[in-house]
Amino acid sequence: MNAPESPSAPAHFIRTRIARDLEDGLHTQVVTRFPPEPNGFLHIGHAKSIVLNFAMPTEFGGYTNLRFDDTNPAREEQRFIDSIKEDVAWLGYDWKNECYAPDYFETLYEYALHLIDHGLAYVDEQDADTIRAQRGTLTDAGVNSPFRDRPVAENRDLFQRMRAGGFADGAMVLRARIDMAAPNINLRDPVLYRIRREHHHRTGNDWCIYPSYDFAHGQSDAIEHITHSLCTLEFEDHRPLYDWLIEHLPVPSRPVQIEFSRLNIDFTVMSKRRLTRLVEEGHVSGWDDPRLPTIAGLRRRGFTPEAIRAFCTEIGVTKSESVIPFSELERHLREDLNVRAPRRMAVLRPLKLVLTNFPDAETEWLEAPNHPQNPDLGLRRVPMTREIFIERDDFMEQAPKKFFRLKPGGEVRLRNAFIIRCDEVIKNGDGEVIELRCSMDPETRSGQPGADRKVKGTIHWVSAEHAERAQVRLYDRLFGVPHPGGDRAVDFIEHLNDQSLEILADARLEPGLGEARPGQFFQFERMGYFVPDPDGRPGAPVFNRAVTLRDTWARLEKQLRG
Ligand code: ATP
Ligand code: MG
Repeated sequence: MNAPESPSAPAHFIRTRIARDLEDGLHTQVVTRFPPEPNGFLHIGHAKSIVLNFAMPTEFGGYTNLRFDDTNPAREEQRFIDSIKEDVAWLGYDWKNECYAPDYFETLYEYALHLIDHGLAYVDEQDADTIRAQRGTLTDAGVNSPFRDRPVAENRDLFQRMRAGGFADGAMVLRARIDMAAPNINLRDPVLYRIRREHHHRTGNDWCIYPSYDFAHGQSDAIEHITHSLCTLEFEDHRPLYDWLIEHLPVPSRPVQIEFSRLNIDFTVMSKRRLTRLVEEGHVSGWDDPRLPTIAGLRRRGFTPEAIRAFCTEIGVTKSESVIPFSELERHLREDLNVRAPRRMAVLRPLKLVLTNFPDAETEWLEAPNHPQNPDLGLRRVPMTREIFIERDDFMEQAPKKFFRLKPGGEVRLRNAFIIRCDEVIKNGDGEVIELRCSMDPETRSGQPGADRKVKGTIHWVSAEHAERAQVRLYDRLFGVPHPGGDRAVDFIEHLNDQSLEILADARLEPGLGEARPGQFFQFERMGYFVPDPDGRPGAPVFNRAVTLRDTWARLEKQLRG
């Protein structure tokens, strides 16, 4: 079962087009494919394509194939295939067929022979530079190759020998015979096959000729009976070639290609070449580093499939390029987790606080709601003891007037507990505050006459005795500028934000959180939404902050945008 599309899904031209094609009786169902090249992990841009490709058949009836589009022998790896399957499934989608473009190599070879036999393809023995130089420009027509009018029998013989390994790499190519004066350069006798003696991760050394992307892609669509081949705008200029090949080949179906704009997000990079560099040069911990826009990274960071799908649906599908603020992605996560995440207390930067009038060696179990607006999530009990920890930032010795947290002589409510007053500040030899001594007002507990007494501030806390120690990782934007490497004069690596990861080694968590496992999520009250990281071990939990409670970035981004 595929995840349903959110009811707020806006109308878009691809939906309109598909609806019309069905109405016109061109198809009885919608068949799409998601065609990743397995040379890296999927990123949030791919998620946009995935959501679209799965949403259309889910809405109109039909199905989606997952096709590994690896006609290129270099770089593809099994681990990328495995990660792609894991990520698509995690996003909530079920593909019908798992397909591999190299499985069509034999058919594609037959198709090439078909073109040769019809005088629509020829073997060109010129080198790549000459072919490129003859292609012409937008204003000048190209130049015909001297091999263009080779007899069919000779083309057939040469192409068969190309396949059999009779020629060196680069000695010749197979080209479509279309029109060297075509206004669209892609139609100027494009290359269909190259000789490359490289190992392919699926076909091994079976082939020494490999089809070009343009020759493989549309034909793979046709073989799979794809009705609508949805792709990004950079393929728009290739559509006439896509159509020409479908027109002239004995393919079993006639797919149409429809293009939409890529998703771009600020303060990050999305090209696989750049992501690969970040991983291989060790700027991040791996493809699933929580600062990366990869699906694996976002999952580890704490993003939910629901939030990613809602984001992809809401940004819509258009033909105009735009850059979406990273904060939009975060907003969707916040909206999702606000509703679903149970509340807990955790102190990230602990400061010891002694309740001088709380009985020594006693534990009082206080009731606390798991979610303030959702009573269905029930109650939990949190231990109060004489010694607790509060957030270091929640105390200020020389506090300005508007500081409503704890200050000498001031009062504050401890969340889910009672009001306390700060009576004494203890410092070490360096003048650093190391302990606060406070008295509690027992009358202000829930159920007591003073329960409603108001003070301006409420802070969270944990029992020193019961708290579990944890490492907490806080994340900021991976890059310090909205468009890393944008002006091209600077390598994008130079724009990395060296403050993108902050590790807090001595956080203290409400008891029970140490047992939480990846996949669970919590709101640490006042601090943000957090998830357990797979680096955690029993007795040594690690938590990631997925997102803060409030958006501190939206304002800044607005300013940058001007
Ligand atoms: P890159 O240029 O980063 O290497 P790619 O487009 O080559 O990415 P593929 O694995 O070929 O990556 O992409 C699979 C599918 O995902 C394609 O249909 C492609 O159009 C789509 N896709 C890739 N990036 C984006 C993006 N940023 N927004 C929307 N769709 C995308
Ligand atoms: Mg690609």
